[in-house]
Amino acid sequence: MIHSSFNLNLDQLTIMIGDQPDEIRENILASPERFLDLADFILGQPEELFYLADKNNFLTRDQGPEETVRPSDFGIPFTRREREVSSLIIEPLKELVYAAAQDNLEIVFASGYRDYDYQEMLYNRYVANYGQDEADRFSARPGTSQHQLGTAVDLGTIDDSYALTPEGKWLEAHAGDFGFSLSYPKGMEEVTGYMWECWHYRYITKEGIALQREFFLDVQQYMLEFWHTHKEELSAAQR
Ligand SMILES: [Zn+2]
Repeated sequence: MIHSSFNLNLDQLTIMIGDQPDEIRENILASPERFLDLADFILGQPEELFYLADKNNFLTRDQGPEETVRPSDFGIPFTRREREVSSLIIEPLKELVYAAAQDNLEIVFASGYRDYDYQEMLYNRYVANYGQDEADRFSARPGTSQHQLGTAVDLGTIDDSYALTPEGKWLEAHAGDFGFSLSYPKGMEEVTGYMWECWHYRYITKEGIALQREFFLDVQQYMLEFWHTHKEELSAAQR
């Protein structure tokens, strides 16, 4: 056995990860115990923190956070007071924003939870204005947005220039320390399905960040796809 929490030997693990790109497979086989340590932690977390919601994997109309809260009620700078996030991420979001404030930077919460109906309205409006092909590059079809989970946030100004501001740079350097992962990195449109969004971060826990960085080439999409495909097997192998 590789890890005391899993009924898995190295052969079984090797077979399980056979669908992964070489580099990822090599990373896992180089540190299988560390890999299973992180997997063990993540299996103990609320499932929706690691749901895959992308162009090929739709959430249903009624999927969403169990409980929502307003960051504006927690001393977090905001653009619209009424906007909400899943209660699962308010503590880490506070920690992130407060830490930036210690560095004299104001991280503004712009958008969080958006339900299916709202995304449907938004998407249809973009399609009407820009056409479907263009709209699909920057707007999610209903059911495919991470915002429906309430665990993704848009921070600062929603444009590329935010990346060059002190706040944008601070986020790039430190968001991961608080468990927030940049969902749509630069140059990854073919993988993620979306243009670079320097303002869009998803909370995946600090251990999720470690898993993404150490094994999945620091690409959230690769990690979530893996998790989507293999979480049942990993869960079944858990002691
Ligand atoms: Zn967003």
